[in-house]
Amino acid sequence: MPDKTFITKTLQKLVQINSVNPSLEESGGGEKEISKCIGDILDQLGITYEVDEIEPGRVNVTAKIPGSGNGKSLILNAHTDTVGVAGMDNPFSGTIKDGKLYGRGSYDMKGSIAAILGTAKKIVDEKIDMEGDLILSFVADEEYESMGAKRFVEKYNADACIVTEPTDLQICLAHRGFGVFKIVTEGKTAHGGNHHLGVDANSKMGLFLSEIDALSKQLPNQKKHKLCGSASVHVPLVKGGNSLFIYANECIAEVERRTIPGETEEAVIQELNQIIKKILSADTDFKATVQTVLWREPYEIDQSKQIVTDLKNASEKVLGEFTGYTGHTWWEDSAIFGESGIETVIIGPRGGGIHESVEWVELDSIADLSEILYINTINYCNRIV
Ligand SMILES: [Zn+2]
Repeated sequence: MPDKTFITKTLQKLVQINSVNPSLEESGGGEKEISKCIGDILDQLGITYEVDEIEPGRVNVTAKIPGSGNGKSLILNAHTDTVGVAGMDNPFSGTIKDGKLYGRGSYDMKGSIAAILGTAKKIVDEKIDMEGDLILSFVADEEYESMGAKRFVEKYNADACIVTEPTDLQICLAHRGFGVFKIVTEGKTAHGGNHHLGVDANSKMGLFLSEIDALSKQLPNQKKHKLCGSASVHVPLVKGGNSLFIYANECIAEVERRTIPGETEEAVIQELNQIIKKILSADTDFKATVQTVLWREPYEIDQSKQIVTDLKNASEKVLGEFTGYTGHTWWEDSAIFGESGIETVIIGPRGGGIHESVEWVELDSIADLSEILYINTINYCNRIV
């Protein structure tokens, strides 16, 4: 097994650093300090690395254990930022109790950073030579715009990648994507008493929203995926009108549509335009437009890929059984690696309280994860290309 004391101490150090994403909480520490901490550990292990400051305080760290150049190359990836800490009592305590380590980011995903560093330490300690390169990737900003992963794939490439987001040690092969769309209904401004002149953009939006409500009830039956559940839709923001006694000339709704693998941006826009067309056929005053605000692709990897079978074998060896394939309902950086042509799969530790006020990770599961990554790395990186 890997060096459990090293892994636990490393994790505690990482959790005690504020690396809250500053785009989510203004007082957030960003990734500079945590990157320095990771760099110091890599220095101690004698592993060379590059620090890439993408924007002030927003940092990627990328390390490499070079192989002979004949084998398959592999990336082990984790993000270093966390979500905010509002409402948490001791977000950076790193307290250990009953085999669990507590604090913001312990589960999502500093436990995984510690596991990856534990894997690297074991490879160095045991003086393992490999045919392919092992790349350790610690990226910024996964919790907001993924500037870290986007920058990484511009600079580096490999045959496969393991994203170590929490999975409770199951192997995650797919996750949903999402799109945010801005819908604008157009009205006609008029004095509230001049009903013959005004068109109310807000009540027109009501027509649209009631169709979205209907769609939200249809999607679970229409668009299902065996690993990541069904597609969904909701409307987190609506804003319309300027004043009492005036017909609203514009109403804006932001629609959040979660997609399953296989769905495209084009098809989702068409789905929204179909709704507009349907309303228009019964109400000629209805005017609305659709515009994409954000689009993140869903992701899926075929379970016959080498990286999946190697990871399955490694996990069976460590855990004594196959814990099953799973999918995630939320989006992850894996889609960015996948889109750039790197075969990507996800496995991470056991824990709880992700994005909640009490977050923890199970220490045993981090040691298991580290050992799974170690066995997988040696098998995969020794495959000759
Ligand atoms: Zn995460």
